[in-house]
This record gives sequence, C-alpha cells and structure tokens, in this order.
Amino acid sequence: MTDRYAVIGNPVAHSKSPWIHAEFARQTRQDIDYGRIEAPLEGFARAVDEFRAAGGRGANVTLPFKQQAHLYCGNALSERARTAGVVNTLIFDGGGWRGDNTDGVGLLRDLTANLGRAVAGARVLLMGAGGAAQGVLAPLLQAGPARLVIANRTADKARSLAQRHGASAGGDYDALRGEQFDLVVNATSAGLENAAPPLPAGVFAAGALGYDMVYGRDTPFLAMARAAGAAALDGTGMLVEQAAESFQLWRGVRPDTAPVLAALRGR
Ligand code: NAP
Repeated sequence: MTDRYAVIGNPVAHSKSPWIHAEFARQTRQDIDYGRIEAPLEGFARAVDEFRAAGGRGANVTLPFKQQAHLYCGNALSERARTAGVVNTLIFDGGGWRGDNTDGVGLLRDLTANLGRAVAGARVLLMGAGGAAQGVLAPLLQAGPARLVIANRTADKARSLAQRHGASAGGDYDALRGEQFDLVVNATSAGLENAAPPLPAGVFAAGALGYDMVYGRDTPFLAMARAAGAAALDGTGMLVEQAAESFQLWRGVRPDTAPVLAALRGR
C-alpha cells in the first residue's frame, strides 16, 4: 500500500515540498504519496488528527504552525526539536507520533556541503526570531561560530532567544552599527512582502555571504547583499536539504539532493 505524507501549512499552495519528495521517492524507489494540507488557522491539531486517522505516516509542518506542532507532540520530541521549541517534521508510527526539526541540519548542509562555507570561526548574523530562526539557532551555535548575533524587528524576541541559547548578543537592527559579519542569514519573511530587514550599511565583511531562507525569488535582501559586494543565495538548497533529512527519518534511506536541487534551480 502507498504510504501517505503531506505538508501542512497555511497557505501551502506554493509549496515545492510535494515535488521534492516525489523526486526523492522516484530516485530511491519508495512507494509514497506526498500531498498538501491547508489547515485552518485555528484548526492545526484537528487537521493532523484527521490525517493520522486517514493513515498518514508523516508530515512536514510549515508557516504558521511550527510552534503548534511542538505543542502537539508533548514530550515526544527529538533533542533538536526540544531545544528549538519548534517542529517541522512529524513522524507517525505504531499509533503514536513524534516531532523533529530538520531546518537546522538543512541550512548547515547547504552552507557547508553545497556551498563550501565554514560556520566554524565565522562571524554570523541571524535575522528574525520566528519559527525558522528558532529552528536553526542551536545548530548554528553548535557549528562553532566566532560570534553569533540575532537581530529582529521585535527586539525583545531576539534578546530572549539569544539569552536562552547563549548567543553573543540579540536585539534590534540599530545595535548592529559598526559590526561586520561573514555570514548574514535572513530568517525573516520580509522577502515575501518584497521588503528587507533594516540593516545598517557596512555589515557585510569582505567575502561575506548573504543567505535568504525565502526561496525561488530574488529578494530585496539579496539585492542589498550583492550591492555590498557580498555573495547572495536564496534558500532553495536549505529547502531540499531539510526535506532530505525528513525523508530519511520517514523512510530510512537518504536521497541524493544534488540532482533535485539542480532541477529546482533550473525550473
Ligand atoms: P514567522 O515565524 O512568521 O517569523 C517571521 C519573522 O520575520 C519574524 O521574526 C518577524 O519579525 C520577521 N519579519 C516579518 N516581516 C518583516 C519585515 N518586513 N521586516 C523585518 N522583519 C520581518 O516565519 P518563519 O517560520 O520564521 O519563516 C520565515 C521565512 O523563512 C519564511 O519566508 C519561510 O518561508 C522561510 N523558511 C524557509 C525555509 C527553507 O527551507 N528555505 C525553512 C523555513 C522557513 P517580528 O518578530 O518583529 O514579527
């Protein structure tokens, strides 16, 4: 029987996850069906319950439900999901379920394995304090940056995230004046509104990379990075790498991400 998976979010019509997982399944000869579920904003838990009752074997969770997915899992969490406080992967087996978070490993694989960028010893700026930033913060810190600063429009959220995880500093964008970073990760959704976080001039160090988690479009932040002489890349690689990690959790087999990423970039 075909095993069923889905991405649950609101909205999800734009999601590339069904296409990516179909490619992984074809490549690894796994018999799965991966669809989209648009849950009502107040109806996440019910949508998950219904999918499980209908035989669903696992799901990816996207905006705006990653915190609710963490709550849904209670104590049935991987260490990295517990630390992050947000869940992007649900695994249903034997009548139970558990939550994991593959965003951090996805970002790190894209940065280090695909792009050849070292996080160890680098000065890193993480912008945003929502589900995406929370998912990648601890893995970024574990990679051993020389300094990791979090900036967010609502500065208190960045401050408390920084304190909780032992980052170098957290606050608003103005506090970044005079600082320079080798890696600037945009984990805000500003690009979706064709906006960029209000970065002070001069934050990109020589040879820096500006990385926008928003994928499939050229964002004002990426234009800002290029104008400052930095390399600029969208989050397509992270999307594919976090999906590969989820696929492995569900199916026990690791797909080759390179051809899928190449096809997606060429689309
Ligand atoms: P979220 O929980 O809604 O958080 C959004 C964040 O963006 C908050 O920190 C918010 O600041 C900030 N923000 C929104 N509009 C802004 C603006 N105009 N200027 C400055 N900051 C702004 O969303 P999320 O789950 O963290 O996701 C963030 C983005 O990452 C989404 O676009 C998502 O698609 C993308 N993402 C990509 C991948 C991937 O695999 N490539 C994985 C995960 C997420 P406040 O706190 O002040 O509201």
